[in-house]
This record gives sequence, C-alpha cells and structure tokens, in this order.
Amino acid sequence: MIDAKNEIEIKTSLKIPAGAIRLQIVSGAKSELLKEKGDLVVEKEKSKTTVSFYTGEKINPDSYRSLGGIVAKWIRKNGIKTAALQIPADLDDRDHKALLEGLLLGSFSFDKYKKKEDPVNSVIYLDPSEEILLQTCKTICDAVNMAREWAHEPAAVINPQTLSERAQKFAKQFGLNCKILDDKQLTEMGAGAIVAVGQGSKTPSRMIILEYKGTEKEKPVVLVGKALTFDSGGYSIKPGDSMVGMKYDKCGAMAVLGVLRAASQLKIATPIIGIICAAENMLSQNSYRPDDILISLSGKSIEVISTDAEGRLVLADGLTYAQQNFSPQAIVDLATLTGGCAVAYGHVRAGVLTNNQSLYRELFESGERTWERIWQLPNDEDYAKLIKGKDADIKNSGGRLASPVTGGMFLKEFVSDEIPWAHLDIAGVADLDEATDYSVPGATGFGVRLLVDWLSNRNQ
Ligand SMILES: [Zn+2]
Repeated sequence: MIDAKNEIEIKTSLKIPAGAIRLQIVSGAKSELLKEKGDLVVEKEKSKTTVSFYTGEKINPDSYRSLGGIVAKWIRKNGIKTAALQIPADLDDRDHKALLEGLLLGSFSFDKYKKKEDPVNSVIYLDPSEEILLQTCKTICDAVNMAREWAHEPAAVINPQTLSERAQKFAKQFGLNCKILDDKQLTEMGAGAIVAVGQGSKTPSRMIILEYKGTEKEKPVVLVGKALTFDSGGYSIKPGDSMVGMKYDKCGAMAVLGVLRAASQLKIATPIIGIICAAENMLSQNSYRPDDILISLSGKSIEVISTDAEGRLVLADGLTYAQQNFSPQAIVDLATLTGGCAVAYGHVRAGVLTNNQSLYRELFESGERTWERIWQLPNDEDYAKLIKGKDADIKNSGGRLASPVTGGMFLKEFVSDEIPWAHLDIAGVADLDEATDYSVPGATGFGVRLLVDWLSNRNQ
C-alpha cells in the first residue's frame, strides 16, 4: 500500500545481463537531426544495441533530470526488459543527482486501475559505484512517488476517514507518532472552521498530526498541508469542468507526508511536525453555506462569502493548532489554494506569501536547486482590507482581485508575526493536465524535493 509499484526497477550490478540495451547520455547536439534534448540515435552492432540520448545545447539545472525521465519513459514505451545506463564521467554532482532522480521519477505511473495485457517489468542497471547516491535519490523519489500515487487515488478511495487510517499505517512503518482528531474532538476543541468545511460530507473532517522526532533537540518545523480529498465547491458549486481533477485538492498534504517519509529515512536533524487538515467539501442539507459565520480555533470569527474558498478555512485551524501545541521554529504550509495563483504563475512556479524574508530566501534557493521553483507574492497590509469582514472579523474571500495574495493574507491573520512562516500556493504546479519529461499527467509531487532539500540544508 505504501509503495507505488514502479514498472522500472533501477539497481546497481557488476554483471550486466547479456542482451541488455546500452544506454548513454551524450552532451551537446550531434547534428541537425540530433539537436534537441532527448533526441536519440539507436546503433546496432551484431548483438549489441546502443541508444544515445542527446542533451541538446541549452543545459539548465533541470536538463539531466528531464533526460533521466525521457530515458525511463523510452524504456517503458518500447517494452525494454533490461538496459544498462552508463553515467557520463564528467557530470558534476548536481547533474548526476538530477539524472538519477529523473530516472526514478520518470519510472512512476498510475496504472493500477487499468487492464494490462502483457506487463513488462524493466530493469535499468547502473555501475556499483552509483549505489550510495542511488539510495539517497531513491529515498527522496519514493517519497515523491508516494505523494503522487496517493494524490491520484479518487475521493471514493481516499476521504478524511480513510486518509486517517492510511496515515496511521504510514506512521507505524516510518516510526512516526500519529494523532487523529475527529470531527467531535475538533468541535469540542473549538475548531469551527475545519469542522464547517467537512460537515456536508458523510466522512467529516479530520486533523491528522504526525511527528518525526529528528536527531537534534530543537524546536520543530511544522508543515501544514491542505487535504481536501474532494472539493465540489460546496453550495458555491464549481462548474462541471472545473470539478474534474478536484481529487488533487489534497496535494499539499500528500507532499507533507512525502517529506515526513523522506525525513525519517534520511534521518534529518530537525524535528518535524506534519499537520494534515483533511475535509471533503460536499453538498447536502448539512453543508455550510455562504453568509455562515464560523468561529475558528483562534477565536477569530470568519464570514463565509464562498464555500469554495475552503482551503484557507481548514488551514486556519491547522495553523492555530500548530502554535497552540508546539513552539515551531518555523511553519510552512502547502496548499492548492487558488486558481488565481495558476493564472498568475502558470505551471512554472509556486506562489509564496511569507512574514520572513530569510525563510523565503532559504526556500527560494532550495527551489532553484531542486527545480521546484517558487516566487514571492506581496503581503502589503493594503490587501488585508479586501478580506475585512462585515459581520465577522474576517471574510474568506475578497473576490477575484489579487486572489492568491488575499488567500495568503487570510492565513497570515492566523499566524503570529514572531514565527517565521511561509505559505506555498501550489495550485498551478501540483497537478498538470499534460505529462512532463519526468511526470505523468496528474500529480507531480511538488514540494517534497523542495522541502527535503530545505530541511537537509537548514542545520549546515
Ligand atoms: Zn474550493
């Protein structure tokens, strides 16, 4: 259940089976025909087949990751059973790691519900000298692929209830503590915002708290993830077209799970708390409505303008819970929060709203290194006026104007200025309609590599 079943296994071996296809990466361009990244030439010499993949001339920090993905997809598409990849000797560390990551990420597919006539299990062999780096990359990419796989599961399979059960098994497997708060406990606690969002569903809201102890005694980093296991929009219902893909509205939380998984295996120094705010936004006579006034866990009252602006409601209580129960050294939240962020930044960068420039700087640099890139959103107080409540302290929507900013500004109201905090709006990058070189159409697992890099470099 925990591990996505990759159809391509990547391992090291001294002995390469006879008949294995030789794969090589050639930098630059060979000719007019072999000019772009991923262009390839197949050469046959007696029983030996060699496939050369060209990098093309424009190399960026993601080029080798792309190429690794292209190689993995080519293997699968051509039903190759065994292949041996020769890693170019002159690769620097960054490109070397990127190439292995591309192979591992490109091996992921979500085919479990498809009928398969003749499944091929492929193996790509690497030189034994790759073993240590391969293991590190595997740890990280298995975490990404798990985040992707869980995100792909439809709402009939993953809802707040079943996600809690999965989280408990997951915690056991990776040595984490796990606490689940159900809707009754959340109501008693006063978490009126997260409860309201899920009250129209037959599987009501849950808050899932996972704890990785770290190897150092220090205050924890708290990661808060949005897990809308399905978002119909509620009474502010989405048009049919916009509802397809709403199983991916849990991608923020899936990334948090991925980070915890990798952190526990890499033995990252910093203790990490993951808070997953899970709800299903459905329509029924029990659903919350526009005009409702919710009392959040912080005590602030929230006027509901749109029941489709529900991510910020569940996160508000998650952020408050983080501050009431832990003393975080920093908080990062991840959410597919606003379509407006996708409109502004496309599928290239996640938007970030923060109260702390040095935290932003660290995250930005991790983003450039991992190519899970971010860009800052403004946080001028002027924007807060757009979400000032009429009959309550604050309202949950300021309309279309500056929507990624007002989404973040809403959350900022629930975080102490004393705690470094960053909100990652991943709506444009968490799931894509089209495949990339190392991702199938659907969930990308965005955020796992970014935050693992950030946490790994934090104490150095
Ligand atoms: Zn929504």
